Amino acid sequence: MSAAAPIVIIGTGLSGFSLAREIRKQDKEIPILMVTADDGYSYSKPMLSTGFTKGKEAEELAQATAAAMVEQLNIDLRAHTTVTGIDTAAHQLLIGDERLDYAKLVLAWGADVIRLTIEGDGHEQVYSINDLMDYRAFRKAVAGKQRVAIMGAGLIGCEFANDLRNGGIEVDIIAPSDTVMPGLLPKPAADAVVDALTEAGVGFHLETVVERIDKDGDGVRLQLANGETLAADLVISAVGLRPRTSLAVEAGLEAGRGIMVNRALETSAPDVYALGDCAEVDGHVLLYVLPLMACARALAKTLLGERSEVAYGTMPVMVKTPCCPTAVCPPPASAEGAWEVERDGNSVRALFKAEDGQILGFAVTGDYALEKQTLAKEVPPIHN
Ligand SMILES: Cc1cc2nc3c(=O)[nH]c(=O)nc-3n(C[C@H](O)[C@H](O)[C@H](O)COP(=O)(O)OP(=O)(O)OC[C@H]3O[C@@H](n4cnc5c(N)ncnc54)[C@H](O)[C@@H]3O)c2cc1C
Repeated sequence: MSAAAPIVIIGTGLSGFSLAREIRKQDKEIPILMVTADDGYSYSKPMLSTGFTKGKEAEELAQATAAAMVEQLNIDLRAHTTVTGIDTAAHQLLIGDERLDYAKLVLAWGADVIRLTIEGDGHEQVYSINDLMDYRAFRKAVAGKQRVAIMGAGLIGCEFANDLRNGGIEVDIIAPSDTVMPGLLPKPAADAVVDALTEAGVGFHLETVVERIDKDGDGVRLQLANGETLAADLVISAVGLRPRTSLAVEAGLEAGRGIMVNRALETSAPDVYALGDCAEVDGHVLLYVLPLMACARALAKTLLGERSEVAYGTMPVMVKTPCCPTAVCPPPASAEGAWEVERDGNSVRALFKAEDGQILGFAVTGDYALEKQTLAKEVPPIHN
């Protein structure tokens, strides 16, 4: 490794750029090289699922080009460059045959969308939207179209459903669960979101799956396991994300659901760190913005010589379904207690309480969503 080797950050998503910003707050000069498979534009990924209502093209969601980020952060940046391997013994990363030295290496390379294997010849019309380039492709495809089928009833599927519906598109959601966002919301809160989206005109096909997608004129026909068929111009697949671990595993790093790091964001290899959607931090895989920002703050200090551990506060998740505003702070998996639920139309207040009355988690929808900040103060941090 050469003496002047930089801190190398792989990935220019919110994790990569947040980390670079945090480093620059403390050190204006230390060499930083960012390497990214995409175009290196800075953008806020949560905006992707509200862009349709606002009529935003991809370029309008981008906050800065790669060139502007190079200037702003005093970094080197290689866009459209896919890292193909890591040699931890040599402190080098591999880009095909090229080898680059690093002093410290940060993996901020995010998560892959899960792609289902489904029969039929209509796959060209199936889109997943997990970055600005995906959004650009989808926006282009959906122009002038009327009907979109969404596979998956998770947070992202519901947000896209609401967003597209607001934009006048007919939307159907197909999912195997009996309500939306299972695992994130307790059922009464989830059902309130289903009711509100239904009132907004979204069609639900729950407790079933898509078995075939075939071309049908300019659009597609979806065959569902329950015998229904649906016509659509396009399909969005929003069935989940999987932290990118394969290159890390090939390099001998420990990985579980994500690349395993401790609270100092250290992987099992010296001078290699991970944060964001690719990381499993002390057993937690949290694919949200607030955790990655907390990680970026701690890691910047560590990289500059003051080893620091991340401490998460209480981090409620806002679901961007304006027809039924929703906030949730799930109780820890190990928490003992029970849900107490009040429902008034599509307004639900669900509190997960321990035997002694302590609130350990909550989900609030509709008018009760206004209480999210007050409730968040009462919930102990999941991961202190
Ligand atoms: C539609 C949508 C809405 C969301 N809404 C919210 C919300 O409201 N609130 C919230 O908290 N969270 C939300 N999230 C989640 C949140 O946006 C993510 O957790 C966060 O953006 C992840 O950032 P990241 O930098 O870790 O990963 P990414 O943004 O995925 O960045 C990964 C980077 O790594 C690069 N890369 C990958 N592999 C390689 C390689 N081999 N070589 C070089 N570069 C590589 C990619 O090109 C990219 O630059 C949403 C997610 C989506 C998809």
